Amino acid sequence: MLSTMQDVPLTVTRILEHGVLVHGRSQITTWTGEGEPRRRSFAEAGVRAAQLAHALRDDLGVRADDRVATLMWNNAEHVEAYFAIPAMGAVLHTLNLRLPAEQLVWIVNHAADRVIIVNGSLIPLIAPLLPRLTTVEHIVVSGPGDRAPLAGGQARVHECEELLADKPTTFDWPEIDERQAAAMCYTSGTTGDPKGVVYSHRSIYLHSMQVNMTQSMGLTDRDTSLVVVPQFHVNAWGLPHATFMTGVNMLMPDRFLQPAPLAEMIETERPTHAAAVPTIWQGLLGELHAKPRDVSSLTQVTIGGSACPPSLMEAFDQLGMRVCHAWGMTETSPLGTVARPPAHAVGTEEEFAYRLTQGRFPAGVEARLTGPGGERLPRDGTSAGELEVRGPWIAGAYYNGPDAEPLRPADKFSEDGWLKTGDVGTISPEGFLTLTDRAKDVIKSGGEWISSVDLENALMSHPDVAEAAVVAVPDDRWGERPLATVVLKDGATTDFETLRVFLAEERRIAKWQLPERWTVIASVPKTSVGKFDKKVLRRQYADGQLD
Ligand code: ADP
Repeated sequence: MLSTMQDVPLTVTRILEHGVLVHGRSQITTWTGEGEPRRRSFAEAGVRAAQLAHALRDDLGVRADDRVATLMWNNAEHVEAYFAIPAMGAVLHTLNLRLPAEQLVWIVNHAADRVIIVNGSLIPLIAPLLPRLTTVEHIVVSGPGDRAPLAGGQARVHECEELLADKPTTFDWPEIDERQAAAMCYTSGTTGDPKGVVYSHRSIYLHSMQVNMTQSMGLTDRDTSLVVVPQFHVNAWGLPHATFMTGVNMLMPDRFLQPAPLAEMIETERPTHAAAVPTIWQGLLGELHAKPRDVSSLTQVTIGGSACPPSLMEAFDQLGMRVCHAWGMTETSPLGTVARPPAHAVGTEEEFAYRLTQGRFPAGVEARLTGPGGERLPRDGTSAGELEVRGPWIAGAYYNGPDAEPLRPADKFSEDGWLKTGDVGTISPEGFLTLTDRAKDVIKSGGEWISSVDLENALMSHPDVAEAAVVAVPDDRWGERPLATVVLKDGATTDFETLRVFLAEERRIAKWQLPERWTVIASVPKTSVGKFDKKVLRRQYADGQLD
């Protein structure tokens, strides 16, 4: 029997209209690096989104399903594109501005982007690639930067503000099937070619509701969120959409992502929440120690993208900023788990241990663990296996062109359609996920597994260690052994023997897990989204650069 309920599609358009109508006074503040930040209300952003949609349709000929890419920092204009493009029925494609040129070219051509909206400051990055971007017909430039390098190419160049200037302030948004593509994002290709994930209107709508749940980020219109996680990194973890649902103000850092301007914007704009990967927070911590600032407004910090070292969480706790750890992937929109301790642990000694886990699964994400032989493992908090997930905002396939069958590689999707995350860990009977490693980073030593993350966290808890990354290296006797690469704090002189003793005695790392290969490096190489790039370390070791 069918229900008697209305079948109203869940669309990005609805989120936009709601944000404008109900939370029109909420603000998007964009840092400009000098003078006053750029302040724009949700109502104004809604008008500009309508104007952008007119420009794209009437001047540039963008039609339903066309891919419109953005190569932009986090700013109000990028938020407007986030809404205008899906709401008009086209597909927003956020480009990762930190990718190597070859990958950017590959991704733009693979997605067959027709238009790229680019921040003026990023013209030097895109201009040399234009001759190889075979599908791009239009470049729309927003914000300051020298336009000269774009001249003479095959793509027509437009000024964003000129396009918007004379456009109507409302748009008759089309009715859209909620299963249609709204946005796409390529994984950063840490393994093999980048893979395109295409979000639907429905998946974005449901994911935004999840982000807003009290047991997730739980923000309200009294909050201001400093959105450091880039808008090209899994839709800035869903924040621009979620904030339009609940009226949370956004503070956008634009290109000012260095620790000093971040500290300054926290002090002057007083956000209550912020979200970014651990490396950003590690940098900010150093800055705050060197130059203390009033950061007391910031009471909640969402950390995800890679494991949050316990030492970082403790350091932030001491500053009065409460870290909330979360796990997710491009394929999971990204919200998978959020580490809110259960009621019985709040205020007890157990609480910190819960906060260190990757977090608890929400109702929208089903999870299971699979052992090496394909067997289902119990959710007992100790059996470790590969995490598989499914749910309405989890990818079921990868994009393979608009008319081609989507890709479902066997190493990424189970036969019954679950996403194989490539992450190894345990799930407790209460539904808390603890990741021990990525399947490809775990160190397989003599038939046993050593968690590289455990060793890194233990090392980073030593007062002389700024950063540490541990990778597997080949070993004749054991198959693989850990290599510890360590970045020491300025002026620190600790030697490896001291660190080994510290791991064994203070951090209770089993003797057979202790690294015997060590090297001091100047900094840990990072991926395009700021995670430790272990592929580079492995290659450097193979090339004899890390002995
Ligand atoms: P990429 O795979 O290119 O790094 P993603 O941003 O999609 O791009 O990365 C998702 C992966 O990041 C997850 O599969 C997991 O390995 C890692 N990750 C994300 N959040 C956490 C976390 N809180 N703890 C540990 N690992 C995490």
